[in-house]
Amino acid sequence: MSFRDFHGNQETVTRIREMTARSRFPHAVIISGPEGAGKFTLAQMIAKSLNCLEQPRHDGLADFCGHCSNCRRIAQADDLDARFAEAIETRDAMREADKRDSRILIQTHPEVLLVPPDPPQMLIKVGQVRQVIDSVFYKPVEARRKIVIFTQSAFMKEAANSLLKVLEEPPEYATLMLLTENPGELLPTIRSRGVTFTLSALPVSELEAALSAVRTDLKPAQRELIARLANGAMGRALSFKLEEYVSARVHGLTVLRSAVAGGDHSELFKVTETYRAGADGREQTDRLLRTLYALLEDLLVLKSGTPELVRNRDIQGELGRIAQQVDFDWIVQAAQRLNEVERGMRRNLLRSLSLDAFAVSLEK
Ligand SMILES: [Zn+2]
Repeated sequence: MSFRDFHGNQETVTRIREMTARSRFPHAVIISGPEGAGKFTLAQMIAKSLNCLEQPRHDGLADFCGHCSNCRRIAQADDLDARFAEAIETRDAMREADKRDSRILIQTHPEVLLVPPDPPQMLIKVGQVRQVIDSVFYKPVEARRKIVIFTQSAFMKEAANSLLKVLEEPPEYATLMLLTENPGELLPTIRSRGVTFTLSALPVSELEAALSAVRTDLKPAQRELIARLANGAMGRALSFKLEEYVSARVHGLTVLRSAVAGGDHSELFKVTETYRAGADGREQTDRLLRTLYALLEDLLVLKSGTPELVRNRDIQGELGRIAQQVDFDWIVQAAQRLNEVERGMRRNLLRSLSLDAFAVSLEK
């Protein structure tokens, strides 16, 4: 791995690498961008390049070797979701008394601290920031720089105020990075202390080009479909599970057709019957709901006379036929009902029944 493996937003990445090469990397940075844009991947790359023992240069720009002991230890946290799940599991296994004081932090290298939002509220809490403060004022021993990465920017108020104190006078050797989908969520006083790097959503053509380099197993039409469905996010495009999506879409279309046609719902019931309770069923239902939203969006786009924006391009004919049978109000109502199904599921209402009810309630 190297900075050259980062897809998209090359101007921003080059700026970062120039700053790093001149040892001018700021003490506080905000990396903003939509979900899947690669904010965390980039932050990890920065952490490695600042602390790599070999510090290779490519075209005069900073990079990292990927195999020295610092790079390797930092890379153990590349799979953030897995490390996060482990941290939660460890806390869940604690005695009640200890649990209360335990804060979720991830540290695979002694000088690199990752701070994810703390469940169940999924906010960064003051206890976490206090631990950052405890650690950040100790000079790094095993690396040049002390690095803290806040993986999201939803801070509890007191936590944000504590963070501000660190940002006002960060130690010379420290770099704090805040990752955010929405910089407006951060206190203006925090924003003004950091340098902001923005990762923007990528055009479909750029996603397609990246996909054609790595997903040679896919047909061009499939790559185009993924590029359109990825919402400008390279991470999402590269890890997109097309087969799963297409099978959820087959079900989504059955639900929509059943809702539009009314009357006989046997096909619908055959589909919804397969949605069971439990974690698997939950994931399957989540996928179906997300797919239904995407299909409704396409119907809306068709109704608005902007077919070039349809994302499910490969089934545009079928979507066109459905669009002819419904009006704006129906689509809006369907989106609202879908939202109710989603909320019902969070309260653990029976999945299959709420999906049936969804379709039946939209009958024309
Ligand atoms: Zn290295």
